[in-house]
Amino acid sequence: MCAKKSADPVIDEISTLRAQLEEANYRYYVEDAPSIPDAEYDRMLRRLQEIEAEHPDQVTADSPTQRVGAPPAEGFPEVRHAVAMLSLDNAFDEQEVRAFARRVGERLETDEQAITFCCEPKLDGLAVSLVYENGLLVQGATRGDGRTGEGITANLRTLRSIPLRLRGDHLPALLEVRGEVYMSHSGFEKLNDEARTRGSKVFANPRNAAAGSLRQLDPNIAAARPLEFCAYQVARIDDEWLKPSHSALMQQLRDMGFRTSPEIDVVTGADGLVDFCDRMGRRRERLDYDIDGAVLKVDDLRAQRELGFVSRAPRWAMAFKFPAQEQTTIIRDVTFQVGRTGRLTPVARLEPVQVAGVMVSNATLHNMDEIERLDARIGDTVVIRRAGDVIPQIVSVVMDARPEEVHAIEMPEQCPVCGSRVERIGDEVDARCSGGLFCPAQRKEALKHFASRRALDIDGLGTKLIDALVEREWVTTPADLFRLEAERLAELPRMAQKSADNLVASLERSRHTTLPRFIYALGITEVGEATANALVLHFGELQRIMDASREALETVADIGPIVAGHIHSFFAEAHNRETIEDLIRVGIDWEEVEVGEREQPLAGQTWVLTGTLEALTRDEAKARLVALGAKVSGSVSKKTHAVVAGEAAGSKLEKARQLGVEVMDEQTLLNFLGQHESAPSSEKAP
Ligand SMILES: [Zn+2]
Repeated sequence: MCAKKSADPVIDEISTLRAQLEEANYRYYVEDAPSIPDAEYDRMLRRLQEIEAEHPDQVTADSPTQRVGAPPAEGFPEVRHAVAMLSLDNAFDEQEVRAFARRVGERLETDEQAITFCCEPKLDGLAVSLVYENGLLVQGATRGDGRTGEGITANLRTLRSIPLRLRGDHLPALLEVRGEVYMSHSGFEKLNDEARTRGSKVFANPRNAAAGSLRQLDPNIAAARPLEFCAYQVARIDDEWLKPSHSALMQQLRDMGFRTSPEIDVVTGADGLVDFCDRMGRRRERLDYDIDGAVLKVDDLRAQRELGFVSRAPRWAMAFKFPAQEQTTIIRDVTFQVGRTGRLTPVARLEPVQVAGVMVSNATLHNMDEIERLDARIGDTVVIRRAGDVIPQIVSVVMDARPEEVHAIEMPEQCPVCGSRVERIGDEVDARCSGGLFCPAQRKEALKHFASRRALDIDGLGTKLIDALVEREWVTTPADLFRLEAERLAELPRMAQKSADNLVASLERSRHTTLPRFIYALGITEVGEATANALVLHFGELQRIMDASREALETVADIGPIVAGHIHSFFAEAHNRETIEDLIRVGIDWEEVEVGEREQPLAGQTWVLTGTLEALTRDEAKARLVALGAKVSGSVSKKTHAVVAGEAAGSKLEKARQLGVEVMDEQTLLNFLGQHESAPSSEKAP
């Protein structure tokens, strides 16, 4: 749509932005060819919001900024459909599809092989109706019982694939469009992953997620859910806009700005119908959204009128239904898979069952929280669901079918792959194998990290080579890398003698590293370069880091209880310690950092921090005092050397004054630290 020029530059900018945003939506949703990056869309939308905030008289209901409005005050109003939203008769196999074509041919007194049908996949979502007056969206409603639905206009307006204003300059006075609101597999997985991370409720399937989102009273919630709309029917339109066929009407909807199915096809006769259903059955696996069948319609609208309705279903349409994607079966056992980063995932071993044409014998249970949420036990009968390429999921437990004897599902104490301890740190959702350097499940990933540029920086040791070395079992721990000989390496396919020599030379160079690099290279969960550096600054030498208690680790700047837990459990695992010893044995070395010789002017002193500090966090202040030899305590006594009091310091400050303990403010502390700290040389510049 092109923006009309006016004399007012503000109005010009508003209409240009609106036209650009509408065009971007159209290109993204209808043509499936995004024209601008998301960030650019967001920038233009923000700019429009800014101008509209300054010029509220220019805000119109169809502005892209008005997608999220206020919730309806008294719940959803009833909406009576002007044309009933009927359901279709179902066909479950080829015979029933052929019978449909035969009936149509008989009624129209035409050779059934000459009749054209418009076919499309049947989306598994929620049917809704949208009413446009003079091109503007005025009402959106659910199907309800077909006669009366719920007015959910505010929620439907939040869907970017629903045009608030139709495209084009000449528009019908009235248009009622029907279509399906659905959620893609990728959107659904993302939504549930986020819910799992937050520890909130997950949706059983994309359809439930779409329904739950649309029926939220607050449009902000619907706006945050990845809902999409696909149009499939014109229920009402001015006569002048009528077309001779359904497929031509669908093209008209596309021109007006609606997304229609990209799979839509016009076929001829019963053979064409059967062929389309077969094709969709095969396509189903590859689509990023759920379909539960195909909708087959007589394409000629005059023929549709002639055929009319029988009881409450049209004679000119049929829904071909695929076999169900949900089935019930029994959990026979639960085993734990160890991922490449050590994460343990519970997998239900099922009584094998056919779901949507595929034999399913395993389903993921995600994590222990999910097992608790489902209240699943070994021996339970469960509803499983398989859709597309998504791993089969357990939807729910059939409690009525629970046998007397069921077994609780428990996280093993030892990694099923390597026998190292399994740890779940703090309130993290995932449990992990703590044998990061040793565990075969984590081997390739650990070696790739170990060799990476910011770790040991082993030039020439790429992903493919690591895979080859691990698969031949020439390398099982990082130390084995340093035992590789050029002669043997040259036996590898596509490895010339020269490359083998080069690799051995670069391994030789990588032997000499720095302690922070070495610690980072160990691949301890959540220990990046900054944390590795902080550990070395704090403790100075490897042995002290390896022996540090959780409490001692928590005193290091920026290390919280969870990271401290990961570090502690890593070094507590004997397998990891052995691997580290082995690495030192094969000649890994680094310059010692001279922390031990650094002065500890506060040795023997106890300090107390209270109130809110501004320049430093409490943890930083604590870490810096500890580095100077002080002990930092939580309570003030006669033995306290000094109290650092920030903003809003309370009873501790009072007590210090009573006891005559020295009190200093934050600035004095900073000066004091500045005088006494001299940073040790930790790492050579890269
Ligand atoms: Zn393991």
